[in-house]
Amino acid sequence: MKFISTRDINQLNPVNLREAVIKGLADDGGLFMPSAISLISKDELEKMPSMPLPEIASLVLGRFLGEAIEKKQLENICNEVFNFPVPLVEIEKNVFSLELFHGPTLAFKDVGARFMSRLMGSFSLDNSKEIKVVVATSGDTGSAVAAGFHGVKGIEVFILFPKGKVSRMQEKQLTTWGGNITAIEVEGVFDNCQKHVKSLLADEKLKESTLLTSANSINIARLLPQAVYYAYAWSRLQHSGKPIVISVPSGNFGNLTAGLLAQKIGIPIHHFIASTNINDVVPSYLNDGKFLPRPSEQTVSNAMDVGNPSNFERMLHLFHNDHQSMKQSITGYHFNDTETKNAIRDIAENTGYVVDPHGAVGYLGLKQFILNNHFEMTGVFLETAHPAKFPETVEESLGKEILVPERLSAFEEKASFSIPCANDYEAVKDILMRTKAASPR
Ligand SMILES: *Cc1c(COP(=O)(O)O)cnc(C)c1O
Repeated sequence: MKFISTRDINQLNPVNLREAVIKGLADDGGLFMPSAISLISKDELEKMPSMPLPEIASLVLGRFLGEAIEKKQLENICNEVFNFPVPLVEIEKNVFSLELFHGPTLAFKDVGARFMSRLMGSFSLDNSKEIKVVVATSGDTGSAVAAGFHGVKGIEVFILFPKGKVSRMQEKQLTTWGGNITAIEVEGVFDNCQKHVKSLLADEKLKESTLLTSANSINIARLLPQAVYYAYAWSRLQHSGKPIVISVPSGNFGNLTAGLLAQKIGIPIHHFIASTNINDVVPSYLNDGKFLPRPSEQTVSNAMDVGNPSNFERMLHLFHNDHQSMKQSITGYHFNDTETKNAIRDIAENTGYVVDPHGAVGYLGLKQFILNNHFEMTGVFLETAHPAKFPETVEESLGKEILVPERLSAFEEKASFSIPCANDYEAVKDILMRTKAASPR
């Protein structure tokens, strides 16, 4: 299997898996996609309902990775990555929550980060240079990357976060790992951190001594494993015989793009719903065919505050730039903070189920679609984070306190360690050049 850039229309510059993953972004500025995808066979589809999750993962990922990775190695990685459940909870008749928050940092980004780390770990085995991974974070991405890469041999991870701009809980999840994870607290805002990472990746001098890469969300190794839980959800719901409709709370649209890829290999998903907060450039595009990126606005579902979704380019690629055909597969809806908070309250009152603000947006999108379309369907919304990760909004909406799971509160007890750093490229670079990672006090 080769990987091609979304901007390489004639497929003139295919690269191998290793290059696609280490590079992250293609030289022409596009995003990598698998060059050819083979369908899941009818026989395999029939067997899927009785396959355990890791086995489904190997099957699905095998379609995207082909011979780029040995079958046995892929199976081993899938067994490690998918070692937590992704329960489907029926909260109303024919409305299911697909809970993607049972990983180490209680959010779905764990899936992509864990897969990417294992894949890179396998690259580092046949490599003399140490691999260094740098990532800028405004909160949750950094913790998923840290958790995913912690303890992976041959890889040092550097996480740049803006001082005083992440929540206390998020900071704990960034700074308490030690070992091969170094947290760098930059005297600046997220955009500064992002810019330093870009400069590091473009630094020719640094590249001479180190294999430097990023773990940001556009990386194909983070995207592909997310297709797995769509196939899993279908396999566990197909017996109803009804068309399956999946609502995806979206920001950068990596999660939804992964769903489209699952559909592309032949998982019979009937329709997708792109559910956003007021940062609604994709629902707008679906409406009128105009893609107009704009600065993001802050909302209570802040992991979806994205004004220029990076994976939209991949979506266009999958639909050959055809607005009409994208519309046939995806419907977009957007919701404001009041609607989101009311949904958290109403769902809890009516069903006893507590959603986080992102899942609430997904639920609202699903319900809107059901209201507008009069056919019998099995509806699924992705619950992308545990509600206790957003206690302020959830508790305000419910009017009462919620339980914090032990896995989350455990971070509180651990000692933090981060390296303070001026908002200055040379200072950041200097920290990176020191070989040994810092360890917690
Ligand atoms: C990142 C994130 C999203 C948005 O996912 P995309 O792939 O960027 O669309 C939704 N919910 C939560 C909790 C997230 O962390």
